[in-house]
Amino acid sequence: MLEVEGIHSFYGKAHILNGLSFSVGRGEVVALLGRNGAGKTTTMKSVMQLVRPRQGRVRFGGEDITGWPAHRVARRGLGYVPEERRIFTDLTILENLEVGRQARREGTPFWTVEALFELFPNLSERRHNRGKAMSGGEQQMLTIARTLMGNPGLLLLDEPSEGIAPVIVEQMARTILRFKDEGLTVIISEQNLHFARAVADRAVIIEGGEKKFDGSFAELENHPEIRDAYLSV
Ligand code: ATP
Repeated sequence: MLEVEGIHSFYGKAHILNGLSFSVGRGEVVALLGRNGAGKTTTMKSVMQLVRPRQGRVRFGGEDITGWPAHRVARRGLGYVPEERRIFTDLTILENLEVGRQARREGTPFWTVEALFELFPNLSERRHNRGKAMSGGEQQMLTIARTLMGNPGLLLLDEPSEGIAPVIVEQMARTILRFKDEGLTVIISEQNLHFARAVADRAVIIEGGEKKFDGSFAELENHPEIRDAYLSV
């Protein structure tokens, strides 16, 4: 479903991604792992074309999306939830979801407002409250729910377990597993190996903008030296 082929991405002169390649199949949940500054966020931004790779290609559903404006990428069915939550604090929860509807991909929407409120009951109870009164975890959930209103086929979640309370982390893990049940393809970026193993089918480890490992968590467990070299555990 997604093919990233030999991408090189830069911020100005800083060469961040160095010929990175990986692919994600339909319905798979893949975790991008690596330490702080390894290039996980830049990888997600490069897939979305928020950072334009200077070399290499990104293909989605067989179509080359390299160099497309990011809004067109989103309309084609890629939903991106950045690490810094972006909700409209002066709007209510319901109004935030309506904003997400405006960026909707063509085709029959899978996630309706009611389906999302069923998935996120704590958002439902407070649907008429304004965003500013929400906790970090609730803001994270609302950002995800708003992105799903765009009807994506592939969801990119940047550090979904970061900066939220442990009970919400558990809820987040259940939510991602639910997405998988619904057939959504998901890429998460994580530093938390435990969380990644609980939700993902496969791990792609990045260090210095290069891929160092691509395989199952069982395989990773058999190679503790890889874990020790590239992950902070
Ligand atoms: P984190 O967990 O900290 O988000 P990451 O693996 O997602 O780490 P990136 O955010 O992709 O890493 O950062 C990769 C490298 O790019 C880092 O060295 C970082 O300092 C650098 N970088 C990130 N954003 C910018 C920017 N806007 N301008 C210049 N350098 C940047």
